[in-house]
Amino acid sequence: MSPVIGLTGGIGSGKTTVAEMFAELGAVVVDTDAIAHELTAARGVAMPTIIDAFGRAVLREDGSLDRDVMRRLCFSAPPTRKKLEAILHPLIRAESVARCRRAEHAPYVLLVVPLLIESGAYREHVDRILVVDCDEARQIARVMARSALSEQEIRGIMATQASRAERLAIADDVLSNTGARDELRTEILILHRRYREETRHRRD
Ligand code: ATP
Repeated sequence: MSPVIGLTGGIGSGKTTVAEMFAELGAVVVDTDAIAHELTAARGVAMPTIIDAFGRAVLREDGSLDRDVMRRLCFSAPPTRKKLEAILHPLIRAESVARCRRAEHAPYVLLVVPLLIESGAYREHVDRILVVDCDEARQIARVMARSALSEQEIRGIMATQASRAERLAIADDVLSNTGARDELRTEILILHRRYREETRHRRD
């Protein structure tokens, strides 16, 4: 199996942006958020269980999961979040591990896991942990610019996530995303080359 680099970072830190830049360089990206979307799309694998657990009030008209409704439910009642996670997390994990295995000819796989530090469940599946680091003020500004969430709601989400210091303490590699996109791209190219070289040495 190819080495798996677990990519993580707080809300709005730049995980998707980083993953896209790695993909442009030819890296294989497995994104657990994208898998969660697939599972909860109309006729997604998780939907029958979700409907059994929460009723049809959490559905959008097309039969997919209404993420805004679900998010509000989860915040107002923490057991709801646990119940949703108990349905989704094992499915997401199984699918992401399967996709990493299928990428056996890639030099390495970038596995994007927003809550890698918090859940602990992915640790055994990753060879290195790459953290996208960004200060809180920038995280909030970036999320507010792209969504309807208020600063208070974003801070609420951040409070449920690991702190910047906790993430940095566990990182093998860190990408600083406090500057311009071009600076980020340069840092990513350096890491990409390093990961490729390390795999080449391991396979020789
Ligand atoms: P989430 O946790 O919400 O999924 P994320 O960690 O995947 O977020 P992105 O979606 O990549 O973060 O970035 C958040 C927002 O900030 C996006 O609108 C993105 O275009 C923007 N952004 C990311 N990096 C930079 C940067 N270096 N300069 C300017 N804008 C950026």
